[in-house]
Amino acid sequence: MAEIWAILQLHKGQLDEQSGELLSEMQEVAQRQQEKPDVCAILLTSPESPLPDLASIHTQGIEHVYVLAHPTLDRYSTEANVSALAWFIRQRHPMLVSNSATANGRDCMSRLAARLRLPFAPGCLSIDIQDDALFTLRTMYDGRAYIQTRSQLQGHTALATLIPGVRGNPTSRNLAIGKASGKVTIVTPTIDDFIERERIKHIALQAPSPEDVELEAAERIVAGGRGIGREGFTQVAAFARLLGAAVGATRVATDRGWVGHARQIGATGRIVHPRLYIACGISGAAQHTSGMREAQTVIAINPDRTAPIFALADLGLLGDANRVLPLAADLMGHK
Ligand SMILES: Cc1cc2nc3c(=O)[nH]c(=O)nc-3n(C[C@H](O)[C@H](O)[C@H](O)COP(=O)(O)OP(=O)(O)OC[C@H]3O[C@@H](n4cnc5c(N)ncnc54)[C@H](O)[C@@H]3O)c2cc1C
Repeated sequence: MAEIWAILQLHKGQLDEQSGELLSEMQEVAQRQQEKPDVCAILLTSPESPLPDLASIHTQGIEHVYVLAHPTLDRYSTEANVSALAWFIRQRHPMLVSNSATANGRDCMSRLAARLRLPFAPGCLSIDIQDDALFTLRTMYDGRAYIQTRSQLQGHTALATLIPGVRGNPTSRNLAIGKASGKVTIVTPTIDDFIERERIKHIALQAPSPEDVELEAAERIVAGGRGIGREGFTQVAAFARLLGAAVGATRVATDRGWVGHARQIGATGRIVHPRLYIACGISGAAQHTSGMREAQTVIAINPDRTAPIFALADLGLLGDANRVLPLAADLMGHK
């Protein structure tokens, strides 16, 4: 039977946040096919590592999980991951292999495409396969225009990455479609010998500073505007660090040099689509909100109840953001 694969990434031994949405997207692609292919989850890990809880995969209706287990896969490594996946694709010839467009997903999939000379669509908002062609919706010009692409496959496996956070994780209602258990096949991939002499050395894992996290790929953003003043950005950065979030800003804040211009969100800045957007001291001008209105959950902190940002907010806190953020940090157990 034809297969569609979703490569799921692991974070500290657990499935990454994007796993659910990647699986849902692949389920929908499968359902649109005349002969429904098997949607399979792919995990890469070492034989010694315990498997993550797979129940959430199975309850999403995914009955088959392939675990590629090899000692060189104990943590993400470009060469080992690409080598293992290339070997497995050659074995099974799936119709579509997808991954989330995270740093590792982008790194791995582009090299995999080059290695196997397969058609590859990076950074998709949606994916489809029809009549032996890969159809995608993607953005260009920093998210200001949408394009639909069509790549003829000529029987080849298609590769694609899905931008995280665009479709969101499936709700618990959607999740109740599958069984709580399914088939797990553990495979030992053949990995190229040169991996032993890996050119890329793992030295340490270090979280980037919230001012450096790429805004377009950020799952959480804490953004500041004129209302918090220059000093307020110290609070915003500290709170962002607590949440593992990126720092964003309005044009007023970047024009005043409170943060770098690369942090500006809006019509003349970045277009973002995080799961969580915390707007501190931001009025909600159209030029700003056009860059963040696709955020899944918006929290706004502002003392002015008439501020337009509240119309977009799922949760509005009336108050001084410079006082609310330290209180929230305290509640989370951090001073
Ligand atoms: C062509 C053009 C392009 C533009 N492009 C962009 C863009 O890409 N991105 C962008 O952001 N803007 C852009 N702008 C500017 C935009 O129109 C707004 O001026 C800007 O977004 C407002 O920024 P702000 O919300 O920080 O400031 P303000 O609109 O001044 O709002 C500050 C808010 O902070 C609140 N506040 C005050 N004190 C506190 C406190 N202690 N705690 C919490 N809240 C407080 C106030 O009530 C107010 O609502 C553009 C403008 C033009 C003309």
